[in-house]
Amino acid sequence: MKIKLESSSKNKTELLCGFVPEESSRVLGLPEYDDVKITSSINQSIRDNGGKLGNLTIIPISGKKPASRILLAGIGKKNKMTNDTLRFVSGKIALKARELKLKEFTIIAPPSFVNEIASTVSQIVEGAKMSVYKFDKFRAEKENAPPDLTIVCLRSAKVVKAIRSSEIIADGAIFTKSMANLPPNECNPSTLAGFARTISNKNKMRCKIISKSELKKNGFGGITAVGQGSKNEPKLIILEYSHGAKNKKPILLVGKAVTFDTGGISLKPGDNMNEMKFDKCGGCTVLGIMKAASELKLPINLVGIVPSVENMPGGESYRPGDIVKLYNGKTAEILNTDAEGRLILADALAYGEKQYSPQAVIDFATLTGACIVALGTNVAGMVSNDERLAKRIFDSSKRTSEEVWQLPLNQDYMDMIKSDVADMKNMGIGRAAGTITAAAFLQNAIEKTPWVHLDIAGVAWTQTATKEKPYNPKGATGFGVRLVLDYLQNLRA
Ligand SMILES: [Zn+2]
Repeated sequence: MKIKLESSSKNKTELLCGFVPEESSRVLGLPEYDDVKITSSINQSIRDNGGKLGNLTIIPISGKKPASRILLAGIGKKNKMTNDTLRFVSGKIALKARELKLKEFTIIAPPSFVNEIASTVSQIVEGAKMSVYKFDKFRAEKENAPPDLTIVCLRSAKVVKAIRSSEIIADGAIFTKSMANLPPNECNPSTLAGFARTISNKNKMRCKIISKSELKKNGFGGITAVGQGSKNEPKLIILEYSHGAKNKKPILLVGKAVTFDTGGISLKPGDNMNEMKFDKCGGCTVLGIMKAASELKLPINLVGIVPSVENMPGGESYRPGDIVKLYNGKTAEILNTDAEGRLILADALAYGEKQYSPQAVIDFATLTGACIVALGTNVAGMVSNDERLAKRIFDSSKRTSEEVWQLPLNQDYMDMIKSDVADMKNMGIGRAAGTITAAAFLQNAIEKTPWVHLDIAGVAWTQTATKEKPYNPKGATGFGVRLVLDYLQNLRA
């Protein structure tokens, strides 16, 4: 989808779309038509449908008018609008334009609206672009090419920048989705390492891949143990983006990438096991953010670390009862080999903190089913050791509608993962507070750095395309890409 900006809606288009608030009797930004028939159809449609949220009405235009059709898109009551409303409505419009097999369509961005204009055009771009993404790589029958979008808005440096940035951000999320959607026979740790290399070459980042033998030699006991059951060897993928002041400490992003999680010797039940290809979503999120941050040329230093393994049962697999020595020297008793994410993350977090002395650490992981029980499939679990950092992530989550909710972490939870035979165990007590005890395990890997952990088990993929989010079709959602890019863009240089 190509996106361009025009200052007037008088140019030729197959579909001219305008927003209608529920309490309004007019289409925002739509020019007056001197044709009585057109004006009365528009007015009639507004009377009939009244700008109800998500309602789309198409009015065909005859005669020599620049637009072949006008589309009225309801945005609901103005005081009920959220930071997601225009993303949602634009997504619906883009899907409609593609359904009509159009080559292009136009959306009028209403000026001086509820949102600031930059945020308005960003939502339009993100909603439209992300909605037409389709994972059809392995199908003979492909979706027709997405239509191009023209946004009508008064040209200013701010608007031009907002369009360009939101295209990059949406592309970052789509990049994450398209990796995360790959089946496990087509995407193993080496494949992800290949993607990291490709974006590092393109966008001038440093890329380092640590292989199995080096991981073993250098004491990455968690990654080594989890990865040893698969013939697809584990990799630790590291990307460094340095565009900030030389002495400025980087932000560190860490993402879990288990390219397939069978549970290992503690084998999962067969039902829905195919979904365990999504256990790499955290790592894919990190790669998507790194790609977008470097294309945005953010004036910061950023490091992305992705521990990647395949968790398979076999003669070489690690077992329940094993005691594993992690990168930071602490030992972990394995009670369940399906609680593998925390082991590979603990290695990556400890290594990242030691190697880079970051100013802040954010990790992403499809870590616990307990998080889905607690928060469902629209809100990610957040656990942190630093209230200021947690607040900033929370603020970004509100702006991007990638929602997070903070759970507590105190000594009681830390005590729940104490082991009789090692420093820690990789399970808590029964089913109590599973999301938090997993986070408590990770906290043990962090010495002093402000840290936020995002458990994205419920939000990283969706089994049914949600009606509320046309920009998240069935499959991986790319959750966290837009959220963390918002946080990074708002960092003080
Ligand atoms: Zn697992």
